[in-house]
Amino acid sequence: MDNNKLAELLFPNITKTPSDIESIYPKRNLKDGAKVTRFAPSPTGFLHIGGLFAAFIGERTARKTGGVFFLRIEDTDKKREVENGVTGIVKGIHDFGIEIDEGMLTETESVGNYGPYTQSQRKDIYQTFCKDLVIKGLAYPCFCTAEELAAVRENQEANKENPGYYGKYAKCREITFEEIEENIKNGMPYVVRLKSPGREDKRIKFDDQIKGEIEMPENVQDIVLLKTDGIPTYHFAHAIDDHLMGTTDVIRGDEWISSAPIHLQLFNVLGFETPRYAHISPIMKEDEETGGKRKLSKRKDPEAAVSYYHEVGYPKEAVLEYLLTIANSNFEEWRAENPDISRDEFDFKLSNMSKAGALFDLLKLTDISKNYICRLSKEEVYERTLEYAKAYNKEFAKLLEENKDYAIRIFGIERGNEKPRKDIAKWEDTVYYTKYFFEAPNSFEWPENLTKNDMSEILEKYKTVYSKDETAEDWFPKVRDMAEELGYAKAPKLYKKNPGDFKGHVGDVASVIRVAITGRKNTPDLYEIMQVLGYDEVINRIDKAISILK
Ligand code: GLU
Repeated sequence: MDNNKLAELLFPNITKTPSDIESIYPKRNLKDGAKVTRFAPSPTGFLHIGGLFAAFIGERTARKTGGVFFLRIEDTDKKREVENGVTGIVKGIHDFGIEIDEGMLTETESVGNYGPYTQSQRKDIYQTFCKDLVIKGLAYPCFCTAEELAAVRENQEANKENPGYYGKYAKCREITFEEIEENIKNGMPYVVRLKSPGREDKRIKFDDQIKGEIEMPENVQDIVLLKTDGIPTYHFAHAIDDHLMGTTDVIRGDEWISSAPIHLQLFNVLGFETPRYAHISPIMKEDEETGGKRKLSKRKDPEAAVSYYHEVGYPKEAVLEYLLTIANSNFEEWRAENPDISRDEFDFKLSNMSKAGALFDLLKLTDISKNYICRLSKEEVYERTLEYAKAYNKEFAKLLEENKDYAIRIFGIERGNEKPRKDIAKWEDTVYYTKYFFEAPNSFEWPENLTKNDMSEILEKYKTVYSKDETAEDWFPKVRDMAEELGYAKAPKLYKKNPGDFKGHVGDVASVIRVAITGRKNTPDLYEIMQVLGYDEVINRIDKAISILK
């Protein structure tokens, strides 16, 4: 067959050659060892935590080497697309402080010289390369219908042969030019397939930067390059885009490992240098039902969606810090040794990533987040809480804005000292945390070992000793003295030795005061709380509690 004639028949509108295109995408001028990586999601609007993880790993890898990190939108599957899906992704990674050097910025705008960065705008580029493969006899049109393909498959299964479109089963490999011309004239839909040079008895090897050396059978399938609408498959688009855009390291989910033989073959057939691959294992979760592990699921686990972290208000710094923990298990140790250094200084390595899939643990994230938040200043906590509340809790935002100084003082309690308290794990928690400062309690977690009379007595007495100009040093000794006067042990130890001699100990007394003022058994430092509330409010609350106890 005259391949040139066939190529003209299939691609009459393609006038450029691959070298014309290559000249628009010159080799990147980067220093030795600089890595070019990319995040290449579909514009589904939904950013999975695994996607964020992959983007973060890509960004870290590029940054560390002085390379380039870009965002390419892979919209060749129109079925999966949603409106404003690009914005969801762009915002999703940006909100976590992952900045791109090139790629899509909004639904339509981009930055960088290696675009377009949206695959649907690169149709002519793919077709130019596909036309060239047809000219070289490495690709051909296939008119087989879905029914025909299914019949072939059934036959193969019955004969215990490998399923697919390959070798002798690749019927359209043999099709004549006249037949093709006729079919096209009749408007028959067709795909363009690769004429795979692979052999069933051959194997390929490649070095995955995370998984190590991988060996697999060579690809023999005549895979689809262009679908019936002329849009490329992921495979074909991946090879062309990552070549032209100068990607040195393809970092992606390990669901693509099984396709790697196809991709390596495509790079070969197209005459491109192959990139390095790093396949990330999925983030796993402990499955409560089975006790085993399973992939974090979009359907079952709210924390699978990146939006969850915004909605409940985990600070982005904590999430990234956590992702680094599951990316490189030595990060935690490094962090413990270097608590105040930017995480950018950590020597992140692809080769230290888990081969099996890191286990996602919300408790661990919560821990990291508490540690992060407890080191912020009271002003920072105020600003970040307000920013969160403006987006997710308007009423609370209003309260914070109207009581700015008061709120800052609340957030200042037990903060800025050597051992700051860790009450807040996520911004959502601040609603509960600040609640009793804004409204006197209506319910009370009274200690169970005291009677109502005992408690009233404590509160009556407390009113007489608590003074307007109370100092931190004087306050607790006063409570201790009054406890003793009322028949409570001055110290828990004393009480434990001779419980029969006392009504309780000073801790119980303090507890009653605490509950009367805040409603809660556990709070930050009571003295500081009272300072923030002010003398009159404290006395009002004590009075209210006494009347409730009566
Ligand atoms: N669009 C593919 C995906 O979302 C990208 C895989 C890759 O990074 O190459 O899974």
